[in-house]
Amino acid sequence: MFKKILIANRGEIAVRIINACKELGIKACVIYSEADKDSLHVLKSDEAYYIGPAPARESYLNIDKIIDTVKKNKIEAVHPGYGFLAENARFIKRIESEGVTFIGPPAAVVELMGEKTAARRFVQEAGVPIVPGTTQSIKNNKQLKEIASEIGFPIILKAAAGGGGKGMRIVRNAEELEESFERAGSESLKAFGDDRIYIEKYIVNPKHIEVQVLSDKQGNHLHLFERECSIQRRHQKIIEEAPSSSINEKLRERITTAAISITKACNYLNAGTIEMLLDENNNFYFLEMNTRLQVEHPVTELITGVDIVKEQISIAAGNPISFRQSELKMSGCAVECRINAEDPHENFLPSTGTISDLTLPNIPGIRIDNGIRNGYTITSVYDSLMMKVISWDKSRSDSIKKMQYALKNLSLSGIICNIPLHLRVLNSDEFILSRHSINFLEGAYDHLTSFSEVSEGKNVAASAILGAYIKYQRSKLAPSKIGNNDQNKWTNSDEL
Ligand code: ADP
Repeated sequence: MFKKILIANRGEIAVRIINACKELGIKACVIYSEADKDSLHVLKSDEAYYIGPAPARESYLNIDKIIDTVKKNKIEAVHPGYGFLAENARFIKRIESEGVTFIGPPAAVVELMGEKTAARRFVQEAGVPIVPGTTQSIKNNKQLKEIASEIGFPIILKAAAGGGGKGMRIVRNAEELEESFERAGSESLKAFGDDRIYIEKYIVNPKHIEVQVLSDKQGNHLHLFERECSIQRRHQKIIEEAPSSSINEKLRERITTAAISITKACNYLNAGTIEMLLDENNNFYFLEMNTRLQVEHPVTELITGVDIVKEQISIAAGNPISFRQSELKMSGCAVECRINAEDPHENFLPSTGTISDLTLPNIPGIRIDNGIRNGYTITSVYDSLMMKVISWDKSRSDSIKKMQYALKNLSLSGIICNIPLHLRVLNSDEFILSRHSINFLEGAYDHLTSFSEVSEGKNVAASAILGAYIKYQRSKLAPSKIGNNDQNKWTNSDEL
């Protein structure tokens, strides 16, 4: 086993990986930027190395500086977490060329799956259905029009180099086509330095289902069942759960078998996730593969009892996966809410400020993967995820109730967060009965994301109590706008 690991990340995921290292008796080392010197991940680490100024390009994305740090400090393995350099093949190659282990898959697989059209061709050849559409990028407007009319509207334009919803555009008719193509291309060029766009059929009201996989150097390819991540805002997940309440045992068997045929075909190594869309007729289609640990991995850990990060480290050290497929059982239901520093009343604009009065719920069955601490200042430089609250209980409805109780017992000052949105979703019949699709917060229920006084009045029947509660919160939060942090407090309350 390794003696010293570098975690090339920050926030809650760095803390999560530190915990796994410490349990395994491994020295947990981290890097940090100027903005993170008071952060929880620095405080909890065994060794912390300053890497540069706040902007990610100069710190968490600075490959040269990270490699220097690895060399100077006798690091044996690097865990990339998610985001930043986790899916950067060049980074992986640089690490390996220093004789250091990358805790993740080989660069070649990351390259293959990172290019969405290449991944689509590969998966199709492996016999797994992909979302109908092209497997090459579109060359010109003539081809664009021909293929779009062949597939039939609505379609979705996607960046071949894409991720994080960037360069993605839904097109509902031929009139919007050319302009959307141009915009998607320039958005992708800006985000990824690559303007290649391809087309997918826009699946109407699907669910997002994904399979957690683990592969080791001995050639074992296992799955840890599925997660459902259909509660999204602007195509970004905000609530995840495991197992999915939308599939039965037979469909689970087919989806997980499909996932394993992909990991076998690409000789996958370490942890990964196969993302799928499930349409209204229970057809599933490959969406993409994430060749890394995912934000929502804890829901799988809670229903299987497997510590995915410890498995990742052990696999990277050359050990086989610590269990067999037949030994793995699902138990109960887990739900995760992503707690973001963003203001629901300002269209979810990132909220900045210094954290104080942080109180986390202490409830049996609640796990909190936290990345913040009192005195830490949240800036808008990094993503807005502060912590994840994960609930586990025997049934889905009990797990949802537990989550509601936990969120009402979580309090912090200095920052505005998205807990009011979570409470609305957790309280809605559509979610409770699992009738929602990925469009839940954008379609008939888009009022759930609107926190203006007007829309609260309009939807009084749907969320009368909640509306009152949110207005109450609003009055508490308002002073933050003029910098009075003391009163900017998300308080627990029994009003709901
Ligand atoms: P990214 O890698 O940019 O996050 P994904 O391909 O993973 O993009 O898609 C993100 C989300 O966008 C999906 O979870 C789903 O909500 C929506 N989406 C993507 N492709 C389609 C499609 N063909 N039809 C309907 N919704 C889609």
